[in-house]
Amino acid sequence: MPDLFKVAKFGGTSMADATAMRRCANIVSSDPDKKIIVVSATAGTTNLLSEFATDISVDQRMAIAKQVREKHISICSELNQPGSLPGEVETLCDELEAIASRKQIMTLMLRDEIFSYGERLSSVIFRTILEEVTGEKVHLFDARDGIKTDDNYGNAEPDIDAISDKCSVLLEPLVVEACVVTQGFIGSDSKGASTTLGRGGSDYSAALFAEAMNADVLEIWTDVTAIYTTDPRIAGDARPITEISFDEAAELSVFGAKVLHPATMVPAIRKNIKVYVGSSIHPEKPGTWIVKETRQKPVIRAISLRRNQTLLTVHSLDMLHRHGFLAKFFQVLADYKISVDLVTTSEVSVALTLDSDLNAPGNQKLTEKILNELRSFCEVDIEGKLSLIALVGNNLDKTAGLSGPVFGALENVNIRMICHGASSHNLCFLVAEDDAEEVVRVLHKKFISV
Ligand code: ASP
Ligand code: MG
Repeated sequence: MPDLFKVAKFGGTSMADATAMRRCANIVSSDPDKKIIVVSATAGTTNLLSEFATDISVDQRMAIAKQVREKHISICSELNQPGSLPGEVETLCDELEAIASRKQIMTLMLRDEIFSYGERLSSVIFRTILEEVTGEKVHLFDARDGIKTDDNYGNAEPDIDAISDKCSVLLEPLVVEACVVTQGFIGSDSKGASTTLGRGGSDYSAALFAEAMNADVLEIWTDVTAIYTTDPRIAGDARPITEISFDEAAELSVFGAKVLHPATMVPAIRKNIKVYVGSSIHPEKPGTWIVKETRQKPVIRAISLRRNQTLLTVHSLDMLHRHGFLAKFFQVLADYKISVDLVTTSEVSVALTLDSDLNAPGNQKLTEKILNELRSFCEVDIEGKLSLIALVGNNLDKTAGLSGPVFGALENVNIRMICHGASSHNLCFLVAEDDAEEVVRVLHKKFISV
């Protein structure tokens, strides 16, 4: 394997059209260490396919399939040698139309198969563009042969050992020969059926490839120039972050702006792979390095805002001096694959938050069925229209006198729940949606842009 080995991922906006793809191809060709290129579907295509995979009529599905075809054929028409490619693209589009024409019940399994067309189409086209730009052969690798997962369609769990085995047998020989283009987001289960890693999952795919191939660097090329101290659309004084630690970035991706898929840091941390986040539109602008140890460790590095939070509070006198209540309660949530973010408890109640953004990875919902099951042994309350504010940095649990100034600055705001102490990298709390942006601005001004 080469000395320095990089995996680069380009997101949907970086694959928007032929011009955007050429820009990405130039980024790849300027650095021979970029050996595996992971691409998302072209901008908007996964959303179209998601609509395709709802219960709509055959005609409606056909119309979407035709739209997908036109979109990709039009990118192909801008190739230097337009004749060289449409064959493969046509085949994929024909297959998608064949699926559209069949009257069939939409299952999560079929939905993932449908999703796979987005990434397969973009990768076929990008491979050709990369060959045009570099003048060299580029391999195409079907990510479903490498990213092995369980069969939890829509939000599959990768099987790290199987991925490592498959990549060393099937992918490594290709990488030794030439640059390889592959797809993000998609994988396959043990029976070979297509699976997906949840919306926005291409970052995670790229990290999994980097882990399996022992890459030195994982690059995430996206539509923002860097990770910012807070969302610049909310606070005008937000600044790009030059260097941030794995732990801080993991907190930010879970609690904050959706620059990275939340699971992306996990493989990077396991293998100590440096991650770079930069803009494919302005590659010359400095991006953010995510590393194990940063030179500076400010107490508050960034402030993030996550909307669409649901607060679930359960109350039961059975909890008083008893054991087993929490286990029973969390078992119900686990049975329904509900992922919980924050938890606080008192002697007779438990409050927890979950992300109810339906576009988030895992898109989970507290259905009546789940609530009824909980109601059979406790009282249940639900509150929505909440946002989670997270202060991310270092030693937040050990810094004396921090909460005074933080909450002092927010004296007119009702703070619904606070979590502090579980992580030294994060202090977070819930506020009403309508207060959230102002809270971010006030705290950013006070603690970061001073
Ligand atoms: N194409 C998928 C999506 O839009 C995965 C990705 O872009 O990361 O969610
Ligand atoms: Mg993304």
